[in-house]
Amino acid sequence: MEIPLHLHDTMTRSVQPLKAEDRKQFRFYCCGPTVYGPAHIGNFRAFLVQDVLRRALEVAGLNPLHVRNLTDVDDKTIRTSQAEGKSLTEFTRFWTEKFHEDSEALNILPPHKEPKATEHIPQQILLVERLAAKGLAYAANDGSVYFKVSAYEPYGKLSRLKEREISTQSTSSSGEQNDADEYDRESVADFALWKSRKPDDGDNFWESPWGEGRPGWHLECSAMSQEYLGDSFDLHAGGIDLCFPHHENEIAQSEGATGKPFARHWFHNAHLMVEGQKMSKSLGNLYTLEDLEEKGFTPMEVRYTLISGHYKQQLNFTFASLKSGRSAMKKMEKAVTKYLEQAGLTEEDFLALAKAPYPTEFGHFQRAWDGIANDLNVSQATGGIFAGFAQLEKVELNTDSILKELKALATVLYAIGIELFQKVEETVIEVPDEVQALGEERWQAKQARDWEKADALRTQLQEAGWQSLDRKDSYDLTPIT
Ligand SMILES: [Zn+2]
Repeated sequence: MEIPLHLHDTMTRSVQPLKAEDRKQFRFYCCGPTVYGPAHIGNFRAFLVQDVLRRALEVAGLNPLHVRNLTDVDDKTIRTSQAEGKSLTEFTRFWTEKFHEDSEALNILPPHKEPKATEHIPQQILLVERLAAKGLAYAANDGSVYFKVSAYEPYGKLSRLKEREISTQSTSSSGEQNDADEYDRESVADFALWKSRKPDDGDNFWESPWGEGRPGWHLECSAMSQEYLGDSFDLHAGGIDLCFPHHENEIAQSEGATGKPFARHWFHNAHLMVEGQKMSKSLGNLYTLEDLEEKGFTPMEVRYTLISGHYKQQLNFTFASLKSGRSAMKKMEKAVTKYLEQAGLTEEDFLALAKAPYPTEFGHFQRAWDGIANDLNVSQATGGIFAGFAQLEKVELNTDSILKELKALATVLYAIGIELFQKVEETVIEVPDEVQALGEERWQAKQARDWEKADALRTQLQEAGWQSLDRKDSYDLTPIT
């Protein structure tokens, strides 16, 4: 049985019911990470609210099919891999693994499909050919291909931008400057579908009908969502900064090529602030999960804090809020323990209650579930949990009714992805002395700009099953998995 779920839709600027158009699977696409470094908490806020949506869809019986891409070729991945003397594949594999580890620690469910841009080049070329055949794309003299925005009348419908604002693709909807396209195009509003090979690209290029090159970033999401979800699907998600130009460009590419509606619902989350300030490299507040773990916080505390507050509003992430998250979860554990003892159950029994089949009624935790079901209001959900505990104090309970209430609570916690009673285990990677010695020698060679020696030592490290992750002024050794 389906439970109604409602969510704000950016296209119509209104809260809409969520429905699987084909009545079998709720098909949704999320713009994934660019794998060129560790994801920071601002990136993770988007993936976490999408994870809450995914879990809510499961609980509500909408059978989600979740696709999220990996951007493993673009200017940043190419530039950084070259600076580290690694192949693009080796480099992006490393950061993909790191992203997966962090996601797992944050209890983010893996998407059902996670396609990589580099593994879908033929699909992207085909899409450009379809657009060119319809007069929506043109090749420039240098072999790059652009989308002709003036030929696509509905352009801008998602962000509702005026012509003047669209006329430059240089500022995104968050007010950030986009990387300038240094290619020839007819109009500044046009965006690259295919970028011709440049000397800086090194070995990272593919053959195409327009010569050697690589796909433009916007193209991959159109091609891969079509591949795994079809021409039209139920929902598309991303951070609000992606609304323009990225999502606008995706719509133009997909609807331009197929003539069919692209995503039926657009889900955007607002930005993260840190201690009242914008996140930026210069302020040093682009925290990664590792940074926060080093400061003594658990991934579950980070998750609790990043999903609190409404996704449509800016969230101010503070160390004080991390501490409140910690104490909120402790209070929940204390209350749950009391009822478990009354019913003669264990913590493991409680965790097992978080599995399907899910209830359709939530007893004293109904208000908590209603928060989730009504536009993913996680703070109403957590507030509703404490209100539920307060009400339970006032009623007579027997083993059966305790079990029902705990099942309802476990389901709400599953939907927001909060696991109580986590055993915190330290994972310390032991680096063998001889590997440490190789790593250090390589780092010194690199500092001395002796590239040949550094390369040879890197190969030796690889042969020993290890790799070095280089930062600006330090390095880490990790086993190759
Ligand atoms: Zn995208």
